[in-house]
Amino acid sequence: MVLSIASGKGGTGKTTVAVNLALSIGKCQYLDCDVEEPNGHVFLKPEIDDTQEVSKPVPRIDEEKCTHCHKCSEACVYHALAVLPDRVLVFPELCHGCGLCTWICPERAITEKKQALGVVETGLSRDVEFVQGRLNIGEPMAVPVIRAVKKKIRTEGDAILDASPGTSCPVVQSVLGSDFCLLVTEPTPFGLHDLNLAVEMVRKLGIRMGVVLNRCDIGDEKTESYCAQENIPILMRIPADRRIAEAYSSGVTIVEALPEYRQRFQKLYQDIRAAVIQ
Ligand code: SF4
Ligand code: SF4
Repeated sequence: MVLSIASGKGGTGKTTVAVNLALSIGKCQYLDCDVEEPNGHVFLKPEIDDTQEVSKPVPRIDEEKCTHCHKCSEACVYHALAVLPDRVLVFPELCHGCGLCTWICPERAITEKKQALGVVETGLSRDVEFVQGRLNIGEPMAVPVIRAVKKKIRTEGDAILDASPGTSCPVVQSVLGSDFCLLVTEPTPFGLHDLNLAVEMVRKLGIRMGVVLNRCDIGDEKTESYCAQENIPILMRIPADRRIAEAYSSGVTIVEALPEYRQRFQKLYQDIRAAVIQ
């Protein structure tokens, strides 16, 4: 089963749920797709044993061959090329590495060079296989790194994907293809607003979903009412507990600080599994 964990809003406890679920079920994969700011490693403290670079091919122009015919810049929908009378400018940060310009150039004046985007690191944390993507600082293109992380998903066993917050392209790429999406939220007006957006996104992807209500005893009842109205099951409620906050601030997981939670996360896993099998 591939389970993605997302949240419309940052700071709702998405990574907390993802790492505690992984540790509670054990013998699974935890994949941190929040490549701009991965923080699952703070709690899982894995031993990294392999690092692979992720790159994209960007065009390199041979000005000796180029006739400045504009065919490449006209073909590039990302506006990553500008043909001037005497040279061609390449904007690597806009380039998606699709290779179309290389293919289309009638003079074969374009070759490709690799541009590093980030890395995928793999390792082990107890019996959890750990994978995380890290995007290079200043690099705007997160999706290829997320794709590289997802290539590590094994065909056997369970994989837990920790998506970045929000509903933008990196989140869609993370959640895409999962068997179930768990949305972590809190019962506040901001939480509800962003949950609404996340629900719309997951619905468009045609993925089953459920909600974890974190700090369930703060805020108001509107999130509970919304979930009931939308027929989205609330699969777990985690109270605002000072002991959890203290553990979090020291990089300690809930199941280590409060072992009674292990069973609750196992129950969460079983409920998700039952929903997927249905
Ligand atoms: S398509 Fe080739 S020849 Fe034409 S402008 Fe681009 S690089 Fe130059
Ligand atoms: S590889 Fe694709 S995105 Fe990059 S410059 Fe060429 S056509 Fe544009």
